[in-house]
Amino acid sequence: MFTLSEPDFSRFLRALQFAADKHKEQKRKDGVIPYINHPIDVTLILWNAGVRDIATLLAALLHDTIEDTPTRPDEIRDQFGEEVLALVLEVTDDKSLPKAERKRLQIEHAPHISLRARQIKLADKINNLYTITHYPPKDWPLERKREYLEWSKQVVDGLRGHNPLLEAAYDQALAEARAALTQH
Ligand code: ZN
Repeated sequence: MFTLSEPDFSRFLRALQFAADKHKEQKRKDGVIPYINHPIDVTLILWNAGVRDIATLLAALLHDTIEDTPTRPDEIRDQFGEEVLALVLEVTDDKSLPKAERKRLQIEHAPHISLRARQIKLADKINNLYTITHYPPKDWPLERKREYLEWSKQVVDGLRGHNPLLEAAYDQALAEARAALTQH
């Protein structure tokens, strides 16, 4: 049976609060949904796929703070420890690079990141596909959505082989997204 210690539950709540505060000015790409829904959804996808490792769940809540907000790595290290910071950094793109290069590097790095980081990335891509299908970015033409789908598949192909539940959830999300886009 899974048990969560009081200190871990406290850290989990603090990570939720930390992420909510850092993302408080942001919306998802549809312009309506508060950004914090995304890291919560990613964490729930992991939980539902059987992930019970607390560092992975904390890093999932925090996974976009460094990439998308002015969060400094030492803030995460001080509050949540080195292990959680290392996981967040593994799934953080280098924003100083051009977008096309960042996307290429995600494909290249996918097979080499840790097992825990792979699971976070898979859950992230699952939720992004779900969002594109059901709450589309307001200014993305069809072609851009199609490109995102095919790029995400290339990243996910490098992450496979460790969590069949997450991989099946991704495949289903991709099939649904493709079906939704062909109806246009
Ligand atoms: Zn994300």
